[in-house]
Amino acid sequence: MNFNFYMPSRVIFGKGSLNNLHKQKFPGKKALIVAEVFMKEIGYLKRLEEQLDKADISYILFDKIVPNPIKEHVMEGADIVKKEKCDFIIGMGGGSSIDSAKSIAIMSTNEGDFWDYMTRGTGKKKAIPNDPIPVIAVSTTSGTGTEADPWMVITNGKEKVGFGYDKTFPYLSIVDPELMKSIPPKLTAYQGFDALFHSAEGYINKIANEMSDLFALKSIELIGKSLAKAVANGEDEEARENVAMASTLAGIVQSVSDCTAEHSIEHGLSAYYPKLEHGAGLIAISREYYTLLAESHDCDEKMINMAKILGKKDASKPMDFVNALVELQKACGVDNIKLSDYGVKREDLPAIAQNSKFTSGLYETDPHDFSDEDILRILEKSYK
Ligand SMILES: [Zn+2]
Repeated sequence: MNFNFYMPSRVIFGKGSLNNLHKQKFPGKKALIVAEVFMKEIGYLKRLEEQLDKADISYILFDKIVPNPIKEHVMEGADIVKKEKCDFIIGMGGGSSIDSAKSIAIMSTNEGDFWDYMTRGTGKKKAIPNDPIPVIAVSTTSGTGTEADPWMVITNGKEKVGFGYDKTFPYLSIVDPELMKSIPPKLTAYQGFDALFHSAEGYINKIANEMSDLFALKSIELIGKSLAKAVANGEDEEARENVAMASTLAGIVQSVSDCTAEHSIEHGLSAYYPKLEHGAGLIAISREYYTLLAESHDCDEKMINMAKILGKKDASKPMDFVNALVELQKACGVDNIKLSDYGVKREDLPAIAQNSKFTSGLYETDPHDFSDEDILRILEKSYK
């Protein structure tokens, strides 16, 4: 039994928790709010601003963030922080906003370009001289887990790179399942599967440990129990709560263990096709990814365990997990995602496979020893 557990974020979880944000201790007097374009329309920004007014915190809004967030917006946000002398950042939304908030926090106190500090792809791998300013995460989706991990994923040209270190955990995270009622069914399913894969990949990971397994197995159980219900009825409070909990637990899994090649391959895809939602990309390749693991017998016992937790009580072989996964995808209406619908071209697949290997370090902790052919085979078999 060995583990290295570090998860320094204060996470406030529960229905209505946004309403109590004003009672928290803030890391300064002036905030930059980082949000997606549509956040104003759904009324959540107004609720956040009311909380900040009550707490006597001044703020500036930067709501340009796009679904696969880009480096240009990181640099633009950091310029505002420097010019306006903001003390901290609030990322409100899904992974895009919160990951952007973390990245802006780094560039708020450091010179040069964000890619100077990236450790993958064409990143210059420079050490980060100054600590980032604090980040408060207000999650409005259930999937990324970024509220409970140090990771951020930013795209620069065709490179989609994950980054994070001890200083980029949120200072405070608000996870209020009530905010998730507005997520439409399709996105609920995409995000829920993202959370499921964070936990599944963290569980089968080479660096998985007793501590990460606790969070991973509970998270998989909650998704199995409640995701299809949350997709069928977005107002189902218990289901929303369970899926939100699963997502936050999966964030802790990513802090203590790691993701695997499934995430690397998806990042390769959505770097080329930014309209492809991360969760949809993962679902599209998941069947072939886990089939390869099952056929290679890389982690039989763990796959059987996950199948049992997802409801296949009599599971006895690794393919039972693949079958359980596909059944859940059917129950959520997302079992037939076509990459071609997102404009993915079959002839681009070799370049996507190469790009994925170049920009991701997650192959190193995958239970399978991935060859370039394996990556391409998963992409080709998943292509519809
Ligand atoms: Zn993910």
